[in-house]
Amino acid sequence: MRYISLVLTSTTTARRTAALVNVLSQETTTPDAVAAVLREHGETGPIDLTPADLTAMRTAAGALREVFAAPDTDTAAEALNRLLRKSTGRLRLTAHHGTTPWHPHLDSNDDAPWGEWLLAASCLALAVLIWDGQRPPGGICASTACENVYLTQGSGPPRRFCSRRCATRERVAAHRRRQ
Ligand SMILES: [Zn+2]
Repeated sequence: MRYISLVLTSTTTARRTAALVNVLSQETTTPDAVAAVLREHGETGPIDLTPADLTAMRTAAGALREVFAAPDTDTAAEALNRLLRKSTGRLRLTAHHGTTPWHPHLDSNDDAPWGEWLLAASCLALAVLIWDGQRPPGGICASTACENVYLTQGSGPPRRFCSRRCATRERVAAHRRRQ
């Protein structure tokens, strides 16, 4: 059971998706590390993640990575459509028994397992981002030392790195190569 008390927007949900995909992609990740990311993104209640939940969430994260890996909007939309066809339920509205405003969900029910929830909530958020932005919703860090995903943000030149840290590391490496 989840206790997310506020209804996140598509952007905040997508931010949570990116953070979860990143923590779940680390080979050494633990249920505690995943729970910490969930708390950072609005989860307020006790989080009971079993090893089976973790495995299912990792599978979902792997599937979502394909959307981030898409080089252009059409490819991202097609990758998302494949997931929507195969791996999510129908669009439905829920108010979590009167505890939240009505909002859309793509999982089969409010107590769906964590893996199903992650994939469904992420697909919904990424679909809205493509709809709103008409551009790929994110990307994969261009640093060879990093596999993090990131979200497309704002206007301006497309970003290539997940973080300032990775951008700096690559700039320093390129500078060394030139010398
Ligand atoms: Zn990076």
